[in-house]
Amino acid sequence: MALIVQKFGGSSVGTIDRIRNVARRIHETAREGNQVVAVVSAMSGVTDKLIGLARELSETPCERELDVLMATGEQALHELGEKAVSFTGAQAGITTFGSHTRGRIHNIDPTLMNKYLLEGNILICAGFQGVTEEGMVQTLGRGGSDLSAIAIAAALKADVCQIFTDVDGVYTCDPRVVKDAKKIQTLSYDEMLEMASNGSKVMQSRSVEFAKKFGVVFEVRNSMNNNPGTIVQEETPSMEAVVIRGISIDRNQARVTITGIPDQIGYTAQILGALAEAEINLDMILANTAHDGYVRQSFTMPSNELGRAQAALKPVMAALGSTVKVETEAGLAKLSLVGIGMRSHSGVGATAFKALADANIKTGMISTSEIKIAVMVDESDIEEAARVVHKAFNLGA
Ligand code: ADP
Ligand code: ASP
Ligand code: MG
Repeated sequence: MALIVQKFGGSSVGTIDRIRNVARRIHETAREGNQVVAVVSAMSGVTDKLIGLARELSETPCERELDVLMATGEQALHELGEKAVSFTGAQAGITTFGSHTRGRIHNIDPTLMNKYLLEGNILICAGFQGVTEEGMVQTLGRGGSDLSAIAIAAALKADVCQIFTDVDGVYTCDPRVVKDAKKIQTLSYDEMLEMASNGSKVMQSRSVEFAKKFGVVFEVRNSMNNNPGTIVQEETPSMEAVVIRGISIDRNQARVTITGIPDQIGYTAQILGALAEAEINLDMILANTAHDGYVRQSFTMPSNELGRAQAALKPVMAALGSTVKVETEAGLAKLSLVGIGMRSHSGVGATAFKALADANIKTGMISTSEIKIAVMVDESDIEEAARVVHKAFNLGA
């Protein structure tokens, strides 16, 4: 008998028929002699609707209140058949900390889940939520049911963790954008993490971090068929043979450029300090000294953080002097090439940038890690950019 955690995403429970399909899958797995914990998301669109409702009442809804509201989305699924007992995040023993709407998991006490499993029940656990030490409901950031599933699998020492979604697995690029994208059989935690944190939202990036930390091997697969999915696991030696595993696209990026900064010690600390205090998620950072002796710095960030960044920078700009100017540009997107093979192969950048140039695509800021090359392009070019680079590395089916 194996203990299996199965997570069903929003689209997998998006209609009554699909919910029945999920119930059937869960019961089938149990009938095969396994213990099953099903982690469920809200029906697709429900979380967005709840946020929309809250915004209608108030432009800036209180995040604590928003968490109470949003957590109900995942709690709507219950009664999935006989011997199925539903749990909220709190009942599953998930304690959280950090900011509301993006809580982090502190601990999972599986006592209650274990008790009900031992009695022969199927557990239906509401994803995306936990409870603070104080007893407040807290959600885990968008896409957070993935994290619930991985964390529950770790806490229960599950034998298998399956992430069911609306595609057959993790593809070489978002199959909605690149039609001939191919399903990847196995990839390493680090590759999945780079892909997820650079826009491949098939997995929440924090869930992948958690899986890596606790060694939870998981499979991403389709809830509507029985095709084998993608296994995400620790790196193996043969994985390095593939140069580019996948391509991610991240829309809605913006850039802030600050020019005319007097070249004195400490200005970067001042600028980054103000942005950190405003909890701005900076991505790329570029600094250079222009020939006039002043420094120029550029940062990229999600465009919905641009307004807050501008506000946070105002007092710093005033302190740095009258030569300082801030320019902003929205409407950008980021293309990222990911693969652990990059560590031992050269010429990856050259191939990618030649493909972009041949397609007449203007490129902007670039950043790299050991296993990633990322470049900013105009948002209107991102899909074409993904397709030509995908082709240049022969990633298609
Ligand atoms: P769920 O509701 O199951 O959590 P998501 O919408 O969060 O599903 O994730 C699945 C979607 O992720 C797919 O429909 C696909 O369009 C998108 N996606 C983006 N990048 C990739 C990729 N590299 N591989 C597979 N799917 C991807
Ligand atoms: N329903 C939540 C969201 O839309 C959590 C999830 O789907 O994983 O972000
Ligand atoms: Mg998801």
